[in-house]
Amino acid sequence: MTMHRRGFLRVTALSALAFGTATACDGWGTAPPPGARQRVIVVGAGIAGLAAARSLADRGHDVLVLEARDRIGGRIRTSGHWADAPADLGATWIHGVDGNPITDLARKAGAATVPTSYENGTDYGTDGHPVDDATAAAIGHWRDRIAKALRDVQDQDDDEAHDTSVRTVAQQAVNWPVLGDPDKALVSSVLNDYEHEYAGSVDELSSLYFDSDARIKGKDVLFPGGFTAITEFLAAGVTVHTGQVVERIDWHDAGVSITTRSDTFRGDHVVVTLPLGVLQSGAVEFTPGLPTDKAAAVEHLGMGVLDKCYLRFPTKFWPDTDWLTYVPRLDNAGQWGQWVNFTRACGQPILLGFNAGDFGRSSETSSDADLVAGAMSTLRTMYGPGIPAPLDYQITRWSQDPYARGSYSFNKIGSTPVMRDHLAASIDDRVHFAGEATDRNSFGTVHGAYTSGLRAARRITG
Ligand SMILES: Cc1cc2nc3c(=O)[nH]c(=O)nc-3n(C[C@H](O)[C@H](O)[C@H](O)COP(=O)(O)OP(=O)(O)OC[C@H]3O[C@@H](n4cnc5c(N)ncnc54)[C@H](O)[C@@H]3O)c2cc1C
Repeated sequence: MTMHRRGFLRVTALSALAFGTATACDGWGTAPPPGARQRVIVVGAGIAGLAAARSLADRGHDVLVLEARDRIGGRIRTSGHWADAPADLGATWIHGVDGNPITDLARKAGAATVPTSYENGTDYGTDGHPVDDATAAAIGHWRDRIAKALRDVQDQDDDEAHDTSVRTVAQQAVNWPVLGDPDKALVSSVLNDYEHEYAGSVDELSSLYFDSDARIKGKDVLFPGGFTAITEFLAAGVTVHTGQVVERIDWHDAGVSITTRSDTFRGDHVVVTLPLGVLQSGAVEFTPGLPTDKAAAVEHLGMGVLDKCYLRFPTKFWPDTDWLTYVPRLDNAGQWGQWVNFTRACGQPILLGFNAGDFGRSSETSSDADLVAGAMSTLRTMYGPGIPAPLDYQITRWSQDPYARGSYSFNKIGSTPVMRDHLAASIDDRVHFAGEATDRNSFGTVHGAYTSGLRAARRITG
């Protein structure tokens, strides 16, 4: 369905200057009565925006999605660079399939899934050998001790003014100054696991609100054909205009006006699904301005980094477990510690390495060649100098992506869970917000983003 048949008024950037006149002439001076067919503009065609759009369109509302990129999906992106191995550059897993709305969507979309398990891993020590029992016990010991210290902080203190970083609490718990380098490397590796989960640096992750999100039970599954099966399924029948970079969102008693680099669009409501990093950048202007508590939420919540590096080899030289983990030397802490045996998903000799937190962010300024060399140095420690060089690679740099500006949000020191509610709150019953960062229970996930889109749609439909 075209935009005009949906009742949207599209004007050029020039005529948008005469907003008031156009409003009076085209009969937009009065808001439609409650329950009437609403004209809704959705900013962003990630899973949150598509969920909102699909839900509203299914209820007979006029919906238009404006998307800056030349594709839908946002932080769900499947690369077709290798025809025989679709590679997700953003989200990979449905985290916990039991009762997860994405499981239901996957079934409806007919998308095949493959389970992976953190329990099914091979762990390598700093010397590159599989960890012995003593080292495995030491890792477990430090992990338990840090977890207990974090639980104690949360049990004893709910004063946000006393909040400290996860690293501070962990280092006190393990008596860091007296540890030798091998134990420091093990502790750093435990902390790096946290960074891979939450994408934030352990120097910034709030100890008070660490791990405060909800978990869904069941297996983690990935999509051998790519996660975009889900976004394509949702987008069917929804009008999406790609290449529309939104620069300004205005609202007033009679409606909303969305200005992109080339056009202006008007509607009764807007659903804003801009990533937290984009909101933080100030790239989109809100007029008459965001409420103070929402602006504070934008400022204080954290936007983290998790990046991927796929390496394709002529042959497979690693074991068949789902995960391959490595404990880097202390001076390389946080670097190339987590790998997925991607052969499991696609049958091809491909490894997927992750980097997160501070190293994830700083590594984005490295050249591809340097990143691949760093990855290969670790893999040679794990599998010997004779392993083949990669034939090809795919590398992400999510914090440098102007339409994401990070991978996903985290609870940063100085933020509180209620700030996510502030981020989610509607303004004047016209400007609604969705996106992973707006879900206090499931931020940083696809299912959190999806349900936030449905929530925003419900605020419009009542
Ligand atoms: C590397 C990585 C791995 C991940 N792994 C997992 C995982 O395994 N499982 C999981 O559940 N989650 C994972 N996530 C998180 C998950 O991808 C996100 O939480 C989710 O996709 C966010 O959806 P969203 O709709 O909120 O945001 P987005 O998908 O970012 O959608 C927002 C949209 O707004 C658009 N936009 C931005 N600026 C503008 C503008 N000015 N004008 C118009 N449009 C604009 C963007 O292009 C984008 O399409 C991962 C994320 C990353 C980056």
